[in-house]
Amino acid sequence: MTTHTAPDATATIAAYDLRAVREQWGDLLAAIGRPPRAEWPPRDSRALGAVAEEADEPAVGRLPLVLREHPAPLNLGALDAAISVEQALFESCDVIAAAFQRPVRRRRVALRSFPPRTVMREDQADRDDPARWHYPAPTSPGSRAYGLHWAACWLEGRALGEQVGDLFTPLSPLVIDDLAAVARRARTRVETALGRDGRPTALDRSCPYCRGHLTAHTRSGDPMAATVVCSTGSACTAPVLLDRGRRVWAGADLVGLYVALESAQR
Ligand SMILES: [Zn+2]
Repeated sequence: MTTHTAPDATATIAAYDLRAVREQWGDLLAAIGRPPRAEWPPRDSRALGAVAEEADEPAVGRLPLVLREHPAPLNLGALDAAISVEQALFESCDVIAAAFQRPVRRRRVALRSFPPRTVMREDQADRDDPARWHYPAPTSPGSRAYGLHWAACWLEGRALGEQVGDLFTPLSPLVIDDLAAVARRARTRVETALGRDGRPTALDRSCPYCRGHLTAHTRSGDPMAATVVCSTGSACTAPVLLDRGRRVWAGADLVGLYVALESAQR
């Protein structure tokens, strides 16, 4: 049975940051295999299709993603971010499990022996409970085998005080503070590596309507909440509204800009 105790604000923010990390994890792994670039919108963005359909389903869901060995990483910044974020979350799981996860129950088991003897053995069902965090051992990676996605989900459950039978005790406020700091750093690391940390990016292609400079502004956590601004002003003939004197593309208009950029290049 799963129940919740009411989480406090810090715990809720920690869970929110952890969710942002795992929802962008697939993008980060994909970014490792591509050269970094200051081009927006990206040519191969599936997200653009999502804007057209106004759908916003996370591509990854809850599937476990294991950090792959990359034979030839093209974006070392993304690879470094992935390794450090994965390590930080795995270590948090180890530390929290050690203090707030009930050890495996032991049961007295009768041996077929004469004279009759009993021994204490680990309860296998309790040990193999999938809700449990398993530590790495020399012969097994434990729960790390399920990748960052599962680690982030597990930490979210702990932050929000999700109870699974008597397997976990609620985290102390200090531990929730630490977890919130780890989650925030992880999210910042992922979003910086993906260029989603809100810094404006000068695009390497000029405005298809007036040859002005284009700058992308990407809001944290949501690549499609970007806006692109032309430097020219009202003289630019782009078919979008003026915002504070500049042509600005946002939302579904970004698809139109993307199409115009593509045809300008041909
Ligand atoms: Zn323009």
